[in-house]
Amino acid sequence: MQPDSPIPIEGLTEVKNTTCYMCACRCGIRVTLRDGVVRYIQGNPDHPLNKGVICAKGSSGIMKQYSPARLTQPLLRKPGSLRGDAEFDVISWDEAFDILEKRLGRIRETDPKQFALFTGRDQMQALTGLFARQFGTPNYAAHGGFCSVNMAAGMIYSIGGSFWEFGGPDLERAKLFVMLGTAEDHHSNPLKTAIAKFKRQGGRFISINPIRTGYSAIADEWVPIKPGTDGALLLAWMHVLIEQGLYDKDFLIDYSNAGQLVIQDEQRDDHGMLARDDNGEPLCWDAVTNEVVVFHTSHDIALHGDYVLADGTPVTPAFGLLMDQVQSCTPEWAAEITGIAAQDIRRLALEIGKTAIEQAFELPVPWTDSWGRQHASVIGRPVAFHAMRGLAAHSNGFQTIRAFSLLLSILGTIDRPGGFRHKAPYPRPIPPGPSIPNKPEDVQPNTPLNGAPLGSPASPDDLFVDAQGQPIRIDKAFSWEHPLSLHGLMHNVITNAWRGDPYPIDTLLIFMSNMAWNSTMNTSQVRKMLNDKQDNGDYKIPFLVVCDTFQSEMVAFADLVLPDTSYLERHDTISMLDRPISEYEGPADSVRIPVLPPTGESKPFQEVLVELASRLKFPAFVNADDQSRKFKDYPDFIINYETAPGSGIGFLAGWRGKNGEKSLKGEPNPKQWEMYEKNNCVFQYHLPESLQYMRNWNQGYLDWAYEYGMIAKRAPIVIHIYSEILQQFRLAAQGKRAGKQPPDALRQRVAKYFAPLPFYYMPLETERTDCDSYPLNALTQRPMAMYHSWDSQNAWLRQIHAHNYLYMNPALGQQGHFKDGDWVWVQSMHGKVCCMCRFSEAVEPGTVWTWNAIGKASGAWNLETDANESRKGFLLNHLISEELPPTFYGEILSNSDPVTGQAGWFDVRVRVYKAGPNENITWPQFNPMKVVPGQSERKTLLSYFAGLKKMIGDGK
Ligand code: SF4
Repeated sequence: MQPDSPIPIEGLTEVKNTTCYMCACRCGIRVTLRDGVVRYIQGNPDHPLNKGVICAKGSSGIMKQYSPARLTQPLLRKPGSLRGDAEFDVISWDEAFDILEKRLGRIRETDPKQFALFTGRDQMQALTGLFARQFGTPNYAAHGGFCSVNMAAGMIYSIGGSFWEFGGPDLERAKLFVMLGTAEDHHSNPLKTAIAKFKRQGGRFISINPIRTGYSAIADEWVPIKPGTDGALLLAWMHVLIEQGLYDKDFLIDYSNAGQLVIQDEQRDDHGMLARDDNGEPLCWDAVTNEVVVFHTSHDIALHGDYVLADGTPVTPAFGLLMDQVQSCTPEWAAEITGIAAQDIRRLALEIGKTAIEQAFELPVPWTDSWGRQHASVIGRPVAFHAMRGLAAHSNGFQTIRAFSLLLSILGTIDRPGGFRHKAPYPRPIPPGPSIPNKPEDVQPNTPLNGAPLGSPASPDDLFVDAQGQPIRIDKAFSWEHPLSLHGLMHNVITNAWRGDPYPIDTLLIFMSNMAWNSTMNTSQVRKMLNDKQDNGDYKIPFLVVCDTFQSEMVAFADLVLPDTSYLERHDTISMLDRPISEYEGPADSVRIPVLPPTGESKPFQEVLVELASRLKFPAFVNADDQSRKFKDYPDFIINYETAPGSGIGFLAGWRGKNGEKSLKGEPNPKQWEMYEKNNCVFQYHLPESLQYMRNWNQGYLDWAYEYGMIAKRAPIVIHIYSEILQQFRLAAQGKRAGKQPPDALRQRVAKYFAPLPFYYMPLETERTDCDSYPLNALTQRPMAMYHSWDSQNAWLRQIHAHNYLYMNPALGQQGHFKDGDWVWVQSMHGKVCCMCRFSEAVEPGTVWTWNAIGKASGAWNLETDANESRKGFLLNHLISEELPPTFYGEILSNSDPVTGQAGWFDVRVRVYKAGPNENITWPQFNPMKVVPGQSERKTLLSYFAGLKKMIGDGK
């Protein structure tokens, strides 16, 4: 049992507050316990995020808690057994820590890169990132590279903020809501309730999506679009808006670099850079005086035209270049690409533009901008957008999301009422930092890294490459292959380590990610790589540590298994240093507080990290004078850790100061956890109204954010319509820039994709697929009732989904001579799977799709070996490759966005054909996974309440 864990009391009924973790939304919940056993879970009505709303997943947490798939003891692979066989001996935590301390200690004092830590959809990246940095390994990332890094990078490098945790649509005041490519689970309950209210208020909701499920099902208009073509639609919308003058000229002049002059001389090395004065200030052209002026010294700025500076330099305003860029992006052009009729593209653009410009309104909220101008009000633009993974998970996603960000910007909707609004700690400077290591010598034995393992490069010189321009990280993040890979490339770690490219590693620690199944591309081959050996008989990845709550497919491949607790059994922070639950009105963070003791010998991963960091004597975890342990445990660490000594800034923002009297910043408070517990496990700070809008340029807000450590400088965050940062990478690739240079094999690639203005290109995999042979796009999406693979063991949620189908338009069945419900083969150029089909009108005809992670390997998650999940359920990942065909530019390259490394999940092309008469089981099949020591017997939990006494009494 963990220190401070609650002790169950017989005969007592209690209600305890904590935070849900059945998906990543972090709703407040109330857990009712009787006799120390969970009886039901409700939404917490006093929680600002969900206000009492709970979804099917949240209320089914009870079945997760008592799941027979729980891991309960540390396990070591049996000597002589093979990875994948799931043959384990039970060991104690002392033994597990000894093994890790010795192995990691040896690596740390020789070559820290030999240790890699990659984590899934956890909510503790501030801690895991700190652990990696203190260890001294750059080989760290969480799941973002295979989730939605394009969304983050595309927006952060354009407007200084992004969606979900860091910003969102202001549906309170919007009249039109346009959603592109969004699954149900991103900002789930809050977004659902906001959309419901928006619709009740008479708002109009348009959904652009190849599939009409989830949010799209209640849209007033569903616009089916071919996957991976959103960039073309967005550029065509900008074409119409600019052509019709439906854009916010004043906003662009004041708050973006649209009016800043770009050097236009192909012969010069600074071609495409902004023209600046001797002080480095960007220059603009005053259209009235017809002379050059410094940015923001005149409002009569030309947004287009060609000009010549006094020294003969030809220049054009950035917006003029955007006008040129979108001139050929007509609705007719986009119709060919997207499958949306040109008249509909035009109609939608006009509706968006007219609502934003002609239905503008004002709120009487005074504020002062960064140039000292006082404003009596803020202007509202009642068009709100939301977008997520559907735009992001393509190898053209970054430029698509740049186009999306520019669309929001030219409409003048950034941090304005009715439009897009930021959430603290965003907006942040472009790029936001922090700095990352950028040379091989930055990795040294027994030494923390000199920068964070993940950050945001501002120029080619920030890349983490060697003198030959080759990657230093195992996932090749921040290299010329994927320079702006802000979240790393977890999807390539196993393949790269297996191949020894750029080098082999010794130990891979995977936390909460099912890399042998639904969290990996090319699943069948990756499972073989995990099992592949060197000539000397060692595995190619010599030591594999898996920390998880459940017996996932990945556990079978572990050498060492560390059993994590459930979310109801641990302390946790949803921190301002990570991804908090801030609202538009101000920052907010929250915590989990254990409502139950740990099951068996399970231990929170947070405790594991604090213990290891203390044993390995990481500087941040020991006292400098005598190297003694600094933090008793994780709760103690959370209270006392500060980002810099004496900074007063730590993981939790609420109830700081000696007696909890301070907010956001203050000395450690020994009673901080208790104060969170008394306050619904949540802290919320309301900004004065004058600081709630226009935050990129609201000096009051910028001063406040600087004071509390959210931004490193108080300067205005000017929107990058034109990205000088991207242009620097292009100039380097063209050999026009001093400093770091890409390897010759990558020059053409970098020069093409680092365009300073957004453009549409076909996804990289599609480009090299024979689309006549593979005519269909194939997509996966998460169902509303399950989050990744976490819920496949959940007895209640399995009643909703126990297997999945391949959904398709009925026309495909007619062409292929098969019927609704038939078994079919789905084949890509990488592999094939056998599954059942289901006809649906709610999908555009060129797309097939399925729910993700319902299909399971036989026996995994402690399901029966013949459970529907493994006999009828299937996994599309077998068809998706983690790498592009090796001939591309003569290099082996990740199947990812060339700018950010975002995994191209949604780029795969397939064909579908009828299965044979005896082919009526999912394929591929794998040897059934065994139950591991410490798991309870395989049985249904539907009799939970009836059999409760027995189950709990048995300790099962
Ligand atoms: S939306 Fe997510 S966090 Fe909220 S109740 Fe449902 S599962 Fe829990």
